[in-house]
Amino acid sequence: MKPKTIIEPFKIKSVEPIRFTTRDEREKLLKDAGYNPFKLHADDVLIDLLTDSGTSAMSAKQWAGVMEGDESYAGSKSFYKFESAVNKVTHMKYIIPTHQGRAAEKILFSIVGGPGKYFPNNTHFDTTRANIEFSGSVAEDILTEVGMHPEERADFKGNMDIGKLKAFIKEKGAKNIPLCMLTVTNNSGGGQPVSMQNIRDVKEVCKKYSIPLFLDACRFAENAYFIKKREPGYENKSALEIAQEMFSYADGATMSAKKDALVNIGGFLAMNDEQLAMQCRNLLIVTEGFPTYGGLSGRDLEAVAQGLEEVVDEHYLEYRIKSVEYLGNKLIDAGVPIIEPPGGHAIYIDAKRFLPDIPPERYPGQSIVCELYMEGGIRAVEIGSVMFGKYDENGKLIPAMMELVRMAIPRRVYTQSHVDYLIEIVLEVYNNRIKLKDYEITYEAPMLRHFTAEFKPIA
Ligand SMILES: *Cc1c(COP(=O)(O)O)cnc(C)c1O
Repeated sequence: MKPKTIIEPFKIKSVEPIRFTTRDEREKLLKDAGYNPFKLHADDVLIDLLTDSGTSAMSAKQWAGVMEGDESYAGSKSFYKFESAVNKVTHMKYIIPTHQGRAAEKILFSIVGGPGKYFPNNTHFDTTRANIEFSGSVAEDILTEVGMHPEERADFKGNMDIGKLKAFIKEKGAKNIPLCMLTVTNNSGGGQPVSMQNIRDVKEVCKKYSIPLFLDACRFAENAYFIKKREPGYENKSALEIAQEMFSYADGATMSAKKDALVNIGGFLAMNDEQLAMQCRNLLIVTEGFPTYGGLSGRDLEAVAQGLEEVVDEHYLEYRIKSVEYLGNKLIDAGVPIIEPPGGHAIYIDAKRFLPDIPPERYPGQSIVCELYMEGGIRAVEIGSVMFGKYDENGKLIPAMMELVRMAIPRRVYTQSHVDYLIEIVLEVYNNRIKLKDYEITYEAPMLRHFTAEFKPIA
C-alpha cells in the first residue's frame, strides 16, 4: 500500500493573520534593521523561522489550563501539577521552575561554575556557553567527528566523542569539572539526536570520575522519537518510556519549556542532589521568585504540565519530525546544501557550500538570511561566525566551526502550504546565489552579539 500523506494531527480553532509585504518594502525594512532580522518587527515577517522557541501554538487543553491556573504565591495547585508532570518524564527528585532555560542555566552555573572550571558538552547552546563563560569557566564542545561534517549522513550526529571526553577529563582533572552536559537534540549542531548508547557511554565515563551528568533537555521528546526510529531495541518502546530512560542516566537537567513543553514561556531545573537543589532554590528566590513559581505565573505552570503530556504523543512526534524531513528532502533533491540528515526542529543550510566564494569573515550565513527575507519575507537566523565568531589578540576573526543558516520550525504553527512556499523561496535564492553580497559588521555588543549586531552589504 502506498504510504499516506502525514496530516497535521490537529484542527485549527483560532487563526492569526499574516501581513503581506512587497520586495521593495522588505528591502527598506531590512536596511532600517541594520541587516539583522532580529531587529525586524515581527509584523513585517511573512513566515517566521527565527526560532522554534516559545513560538508553539498551544492546544485547547493548554488554554483551558491557563484558566485553571492557581496564582497563589506559595504552594499553588498549579505548581504541584507542574512538578508531577516534570517528574513523570524525568523521575528527578528536585524540580525547580524558572522563567526560561537560560534562567535555569544562570542559577546552575552561578553555583557550580567560576574561574578554573571546565564544562564539556556535545555542543553548548549559545546561552549555555554565555552563562558558563560569564561565570569565568570554560565551555568545551566535544562533538563526535561526523557531527562536524554537514554533508555526511549518520543517525546520531549529536553524539559526544567518548575518547575525546576521556582525554579532556584527564587533561583538565576531574575535580575541575563540576558537571558534564549533553544537549538533546544538539541545537547548535543541526538539531541532530544523541543515541541512548551514547548517553549510557557518557554516563559511564562520568561515573568513573564522579562527575554528574546533566541533560540540556530542551528537545527531549524529539530526541526520544529519533531513538525510537533509529536505534535498535527501541522500536516498540513509547516516546515517553524512551525519554524516561534518557533521564535515568542523568543526575540533573536544564530545560527550556519553550521548546518541547509546547508553551510560550517557561523552563526548569531538575536534579537529584539535595544539597545542590537547596543552593539553587536559594538563588532562585533572589533572581526568579519563590520555589513554587520561579518566575512563572500559575497559568504558565499549567500550560507546561499539559504540554509535557502532549509532546510525547506519537502522532504529534511523527508529524513534527516528518514535516521537517519533508522540507529537508525537497531542498536536498534540488541540490541545496543542508546538514544531512534533516534535524528535529530545523533545517540548517550549509552556507559554506551554498556560497563558497564568500569567506567566513564576510559572513555568508548572514548574506543568505538577508536574501531569504528580501525575497520572500522569510526570517531565518545565522548560526556561524556572526553567532560564534571570536577575535584573536590582533582583532582578526576566529571563525566558527560551521557557517549555517537555521530555519527553525515553530511547533503546530505552519501548514504544509507554508512549507511549500518556503521551499520555493529557498530555491529562488539558491538559483540566484551568484548575486548574493558579502556583509561586514558595523556595530556589535561584547556578548551574544548576533542579537543586536548591525551589518552593511559590500558590493
Ligand atoms: C533555547 C535553548 C536554551 C535556552 O533556553 P531559553 O528558554 O531560550 O532561555 C538552552 N539550550 C538549548 C539547547 C536551547 O535550544
